[in-house]
Amino acid sequence: MSSVSSNPFAKIPAVDTVLLALEKNSDLAPLPQPLVTRLVREDVEALRESVKAGNHDVPEFEAFVSGLVEKADALFRSRIHPVINGTGVCIHTNLGRSPLRAEVVSAISGVGQYYNNIEIDLNTGERGKRGGFLEHCLASLCKAEAATVTNNCAAALILMLKHLANGERNEVIISRGELVEIGGGFRVPEIMEASGAKLVEVGATNKTSLADYEKAITPKTGMLLKVHRSNFWMGGFVDEPTTEALVALGKEHDLPVVEDLGSGAMIQTDNLAPIPHEPTAAEVLKRGVDLVCVSGDKLFGGPQAGIIAGRPDLVAGIKKEPFFRALRCDKMILTGMQETVLAYLSADAGGKPDIPLIRMISADVESELRPRGEAILASLKECVGLEATLVETIARCGGGTMPQAEIPSLALDFNPSTMNVAKMAASLRRQALPIQGYVAEDRFRIDLRTVFPDQDAEVTKNLLAIF
Ligand SMILES: *Cc1c(COP(=O)(O)O)cnc(C)c1O
Repeated sequence: MSSVSSNPFAKIPAVDTVLLALEKNSDLAPLPQPLVTRLVREDVEALRESVKAGNHDVPEFEAFVSGLVEKADALFRSRIHPVINGTGVCIHTNLGRSPLRAEVVSAISGVGQYYNNIEIDLNTGERGKRGGFLEHCLASLCKAEAATVTNNCAAALILMLKHLANGERNEVIISRGELVEIGGGFRVPEIMEASGAKLVEVGATNKTSLADYEKAITPKTGMLLKVHRSNFWMGGFVDEPTTEALVALGKEHDLPVVEDLGSGAMIQTDNLAPIPHEPTAAEVLKRGVDLVCVSGDKLFGGPQAGIIAGRPDLVAGIKKEPFFRALRCDKMILTGMQETVLAYLSADAGGKPDIPLIRMISADVESELRPRGEAILASLKECVGLEATLVETIARCGGGTMPQAEIPSLALDFNPSTMNVAKMAASLRRQALPIQGYVAEDRFRIDLRTVFPDQDAEVTKNLLAIF
């Protein structure tokens, strides 16, 4: 602490002096010099401002430097890098949603590192169709006549609205029970407004009838929209028309029926785990819907993208929208989507594709998770101050999908005696390969369902480093 009598301005260190001290500090995070310099300038400036404002409690030089080492450390940790997901939430939006299969990543790496044929037809040497092969594969997977991809499912919805609800016919009829907020600021009514469509809400939150839709149809109606309630469910006194009935109504009035399915299941989820059935794009299209859109990085298990599938004239029209250009995917995402959909199309006889997310959701507790858990416990015998057991838990699909799905799971359950669980959680987040677990019943837990088997050794290593 400073003495009150000395001039506080004289104690403000010079930027160069601090930089020199940091250079010699072996704890300084490996940040590029311009970032370190910027941090130091900001801190010195903030200190000067605070002294000007009357604060005479200027820290000692050593304390100032170690404060900066901590700030540099926090900044370094904030860069995007791999994290072990011990939360039991398979599609964790804050942890990057779906992990990609190694083959997908290496295909992306090849395309990204070198040139590629994204817009060249190698058969003719002429200019080719961007993403043409991928669209072909997606149409096949969705059992649709046509398909395309965009930046994400939100973009897909915007494009469908732009194309089908504009000008004199910009009204979109939607049930009040489907005015969903998906999360991350994605609210269906707001998206609709932003895309220039006029929302016509019908029915009540819990009940909407076919007659409600029918009464709302006017010469200004552009389309009928269904939004899948992916992240919540309704029970009790509820009713809504079947998709087939809505499709028939659309046909009668020559109006397209569009469904935002969001969650992106492409296979029978009820075959993967004891969880409910989630509608697939193919199922929805079979009911007669004109267009469907789903997310690429939810249950589909690919990179961030939106898939639009359905009527070829509408898909072609959407691709001609000026906004399509602004919302299109780049070569790396197109490659990632291509390799992911190829994994689906090459699925085994059981229909289960080799996709990390699908493997994770369908892993068996007794034959797969428990042996791994026991091996980790055995390797932790040397730990001091850490009581560790296995506990049965419930894992989640996550990412705003299948909120009712409770996947039986298994977690490492820790009761530390040398620190509290919050400190343990913080220490694990500070490792070179951080672990994000969770606290329940005053225990720190790492759910094994969302930890990749080849990360088990890292889990052990991190725990041994702390205990
Ligand atoms: C998640 C979701 C979206 C948004 O998908 P993004 O790919 O994240 O843009 C849209 N609609 C529904 C129904 C969803 O579940």
